[in-house]
Amino acid sequence: MSHLLFGTSQLTEDGQLKIGGCLATDLAKTYGTPLFVYDVAKIKEMARGFKQTFTELAVPHKVMYASKAFSCQAIYQLLAKEGLGFDVVSAGEIYTALSAGVSPSDLEFHGNNKTPDELTYAINEGIGTIVVDNFYELNLVAEIAEAKQQTQQILLRVTPGVDAHTHDYILTGQEDSKFGFDVKSGQADQALQQALTHQSLQVAGVHCHIGSQIFDTAGFTAAAERMMALLIKWREAYDYTATILNLGGGFGVRYTETDTPLPPQDYVTHVVSEVKKLACATDYPLPIIWIEPGRSIVAEAGTTLYTIGSRKDVPGIRKFVAVDGGMGDNIRPALYQAKYTGLLANRALEPATETVTIVGKYCESGDRLIESIDLPHAEVGDLFAMLTTGAYGYSMANHYNRNPKPAVVFVEDGQSKLAIRRETLVDLIMLDQQL
Ligand SMILES: *Cc1c(COP(=O)(O)O)cnc(C)c1O
Repeated sequence: MSHLLFGTSQLTEDGQLKIGGCLATDLAKTYGTPLFVYDVAKIKEMARGFKQTFTELAVPHKVMYASKAFSCQAIYQLLAKEGLGFDVVSAGEIYTALSAGVSPSDLEFHGNNKTPDELTYAINEGIGTIVVDNFYELNLVAEIAEAKQQTQQILLRVTPGVDAHTHDYILTGQEDSKFGFDVKSGQADQALQQALTHQSLQVAGVHCHIGSQIFDTAGFTAAAERMMALLIKWREAYDYTATILNLGGGFGVRYTETDTPLPPQDYVTHVVSEVKKLACATDYPLPIIWIEPGRSIVAEAGTTLYTIGSRKDVPGIRKFVAVDGGMGDNIRPALYQAKYTGLLANRALEPATETVTIVGKYCESGDRLIESIDLPHAEVGDLFAMLTTGAYGYSMANHYNRNPKPAVVFVEDGQSKLAIRRETLVDLIMLDQQL
């Protein structure tokens, strides 16, 4: 199990989980459970890992954290300090980032159906980049910027026909996607031609994103190759030269033993060498390379602490162990059978004596966090730590069953700081109106 503990997470000699120098049991006592704990050192390590490789290779770059993975003021502050920019996908994420002091120029706005209100808000706030997804939006952005007599920097999102799945990638699959301009059918060419006619748009380059939780570099290099080929074609056909090539995110993380992600350095090295090779061969000015890691920045840094309550042993069938949260705070297992692992944070070194299913407290049979895990006999009051929950956990949290959302703490060097306070019952009725 210890090989699934990341960053500063470790077990003490008596089997207590410690993160950022703080005992999990102390954190649970201070803040209550369920509790999301983020290891600040691990987040910094990942952010620096991506940036450092670009810097060592002397390649102009920008690392944009895909903030949908985990969005709150504290994470924007932390990563802005690390020199990252941000991929945002709603007025809510833009507002949160700006309220945390992020410069609007460090934001890029993504989404397949940004509303007119959201686009107006983003442009009014001086957002750095809008990643234009479709023809409707292209005209809308041009109109809004023109009315303000502003020039808006945009990227064109294209689907290069590379669809990466966890361990491999396929060509052409991604054409059946709701995102972006399709390359093969000529939509992307058409989008560029249209965009270039608008005075209010400054077309800085192109974007693609080939998938998520990807473990090898082949899909990324294939995408880089196709994107460069497109840019080279556009230079010939339209005398257009891009300054930004955004290759998206999707770098894998380790949820269980069977996941085998590469270090950030490997992804960056491969992508850079592919882009450089093609740029060199065609005398294309090396574009600024952007990447958008989300999951890989925060997933492994996050741990969710739950208190164990009831059990139900169905003889010969299954042992259910229930925790005080579930699909309201970590919905990925219920949503798409995502696999996780965990441990008893207060006695992790005791030998496992039984195989159990970890379930939540929500009124859905599918509210299972971990289908099958070997643990010491779990008792009422034990602390269960679900590992690698830093991405798409809290950010997908919901109020199903009117359970308040958990608290989030950041830990570092033996100190813990509240990043998001626990919701109260009063918070739950804040928007309600009595009729
Ligand atoms: C979700 C998303 C990302 C981040 O993906 P991860 O798998 O979390 O790294 C990056 N770019 C775009 C456009 C996305 O939609």
